[in-house]
Parts: sequence; C-alpha cells; structure tokens
Amino acid sequence: MEHSIRKISTIIVDVPIKRPHQFATEIVSTKSMLLVNVELANGLVGVGEGTTPGIWWNGESVETMKVVIDQYFSPLLEGKDPRYTEQILELMDIHVRANPFAKATVEMALYDAVGKVYEVPAYQLLGGLYQESIEVKWALATGDANGDIEEGKELIENNRYKDFKIKAGKYKTAEDAERAIQIANGLRGISSIGIDPNGRWDRLTAIRYMDRLNDADIDFLEQPLSPLDIEGASELSAMRKVPVMADEGLATVQDAMRLISAKAADIFSLKIHKSGGMRNTIKIAAIAEAAGIPCFGGTSLESSIGTSACLHAYGTIRNLQYGSELFGPQWLADDLVKNPLVCAEGKVQVPTGPGLGVELDEEKVEKYRRKSE
Ligand SMILES: [Mg+2]
Repeated sequence: MEHSIRKISTIIVDVPIKRPHQFATEIVSTKSMLLVNVELANGLVGVGEGTTPGIWWNGESVETMKVVIDQYFSPLLEGKDPRYTEQILELMDIHVRANPFAKATVEMALYDAVGKVYEVPAYQLLGGLYQESIEVKWALATGDANGDIEEGKELIENNRYKDFKIKAGKYKTAEDAERAIQIANGLRGISSIGIDPNGRWDRLTAIRYMDRLNDADIDFLEQPLSPLDIEGASELSAMRKVPVMADEGLATVQDAMRLISAKAADIFSLKIHKSGGMRNTIKIAAIAEAAGIPCFGGTSLESSIGTSACLHAYGTIRNLQYGSELFGPQWLADDLVKNPLVCAEGKVQVPTGPGLGVELDEEKVEKYRRKSE
C-alpha cells in the first residue's frame, strides 16, 4: 500500500530559550522537544513535535513520550493507513492509557504526512479555515512585577503584542495576587493581563481576592486551583468577578462535559498536546461552542513545528474569542525549521503549505540533538 506507514522514528532535541522562564515550580533555560518522523511507503515523511511545559504539568516529558512512541506506537502503527485518523486515535487509546502528549505528537506527524499526500494544508483536512491569523498574548515572566510592567510597555510601544498573561503560583496566593494587581495597575489603560497560577492557588485566598482582581480589570484567571478542585472552580466562577479559565483540568471531551455540568469554567484553554491531538481539540471546542463558552488557544511552548499544528487546529475554530498564547517560536532562541512562523503586530499567520506547512531544518536538528541519548 503506497500510503501505509513504513517507519516511525524519534529524536530528542534541547533548544535554548531567550531568557529563563519562571513557572510555578521551576525556572527553565532550555526547552526539550521530541521530534517524530513518520515515513510512508511512498517516501513522504511527516514530522511531529512533542513538548511539555515540564513533567510537573501532566506527568509526561520528552523522555516518557520517546519510550511510549518507540516501544508501543511504532510497532502498533507500522503498516497502517495514516488517512484513517480516527481509527488510529482509537487504536492508540485502546493500547496505551493516557499519555495524550505522545499521542498528539504522533497524530501531528500523521496530519503532516497526509497533507503532503493530498498536497493540502492540515487545516483543510480538519474542516477548513475560519481565520488566517490568530492573536497572540505574550507571557510576562521576568519574575519581577516592575520588570513585567516594563516589558509589557516596551512590547506595546514596539507594536509587537498588546495583551498579556502572567505566570503565578511560585509564591503564596496572596503574594501572587498582589503582584498581579500591581502589574495590572502598571499597565492600566493600555493593556490587560490574565493570570496563570497553574493550579497552585488556595481556594479561600482566591475567593478573598476576587473583588480586588475584578477592580484591577484582570482579564481572566487561568486554572487558579488544583485541576481536581472542580467545586472550587465553580465557586469562583459563580462570583462573576473574573472569568475562570480551565487549563490543566481540561484535557478530554469528558472533562469538557464535566466542567460544563459543574459550571466550573467560563473559558476553555485548548492545547493540542494535553488533549491527544488536533482532532480531539476541535471536538472540545465544539462542546464549548454548544455551551456558549469561548476558547483560548493554549501552548505547550512548541517550536514552529508544534505551533503550526496548533495554528492549523485553532484556525478552524469559530469560538476562539480569547485569542492564543502561540508565542513559542518567539520565546525560543532558535527554531527547528527553515521557514519559521510569521508573527507581526501581535498576530501569527496560519501556514499554508502542504501538511503542517513547515520544513524541518536537519542542520538545526543535528545541532540540538541530545547527544547523551
Ligand atoms: Mg496554563
């Protein structure tokens, strides 16, 4: 069969980032990616990129993805027809529980390959475009309130980004909230910020701060509480002060239904990796649409490869009213493709070439390949 999958292979790369990034639990200075190559019998090759914010985020890392793909998905999928996307997703779900980041990485490479088979961009295989470019919110993460305000002002002045998100969760809830209010006030009248504590805030302090966060015009509060605390999220949302966004707590279509029934989210943050791929992400957006919930295009901080996959999926969605945080390629100090994504005036363009529309730069892959593998 000319389109069947002949071989699946993986490589870990460590790409430097421009400045250290403060997450809730750690500071990072390089970003690790797992590249997946899917070679078809006809010689066409699809590329996928798997990366996670860190193993703290959902329990996966590039190393776990590599094992899952090499040991389990590769033998399972060799000889299969990559055009049967839904069957392949089902097969992966039956044979390997969870591990959505690994599944999404394989799916990405399959869409890239199938797009090349039909010579159409992946978005065409996903239902067609709704918009050609997507707004990007930049994450202010200098680790210091004044530094964040300064960076925000500079980016606005240079017409690069106009809306922002800040990372929180490293400090106690009250301290984090005070810093967020300080940054929001520092940017008042020219911009707005959302806050992402990555599930690290405590419920009671969050409730006490909702009025002041509202007064500071905070745009949204992303996953303030543990993803397991659905009741807490419902309580915060019911206060009608600051919209509550679900991120870590929203991965599967079942999570989407549960959050909607519990009225525990006002906005859905989508992420192709956490949901096991582009197709699942679009299904979640449809569930959100049915419930009148707007979406935000989340990122796992991918290079231009993974970011393209996000763009192909998000570009087909009509309820992406909160824009995106697809700034991965701008945040990294280097890229892995010959044709990096174009981001201008706070918007990033959906690539239009076949498949993901990006071309792997083999020299860069060799340069950043993890030598100790
Ligand atoms: Mg988040």
